[in-house]
Amino acid sequence: MKNCENCGSPLDPDDIYVHAGKVLCEDCFLDQKMKPVTCDPWAVYSAKRTIGAAPQLTESQFRILNLLKTEGPLDASTICSRLGIGELEFQNCFATLRHMEVARGFRDGEKIRYTVF
Ligand SMILES: [Zn+2]
Repeated sequence: MKNCENCGSPLDPDDIYVHAGKVLCEDCFLDQKMKPVTCDPWAVYSAKRTIGAAPQLTESQFRILNLLKTEGPLDASTICSRLGIGELEFQNCFATLRHMEVARGFRDGEKIRYTVF
């Protein structure tokens, strides 16, 4: 079995994504698409530690999480219009939520939808 070249998690043969020549799991693939920088393992580590101690969410992050909990899964444009935030702000907030492993994105046909773990 192959492992994700970014986070090292074992890959389901049905769930393999290739981005910039790297074999990735779905989470890492979505992450790469969202922000074109290499995932920083230290950021994931510190985000996990942060939520373990005391969740430090910004107001926008909290509202996104709340909306996903009550009405998710939703796509980005729905979330942005419901919360009155821009796509870029959403992407930034969501990257943090994903690193904390409290929310995730997944493919639904042509769209990417977002939901809580
Ligand atoms: Zn991965």
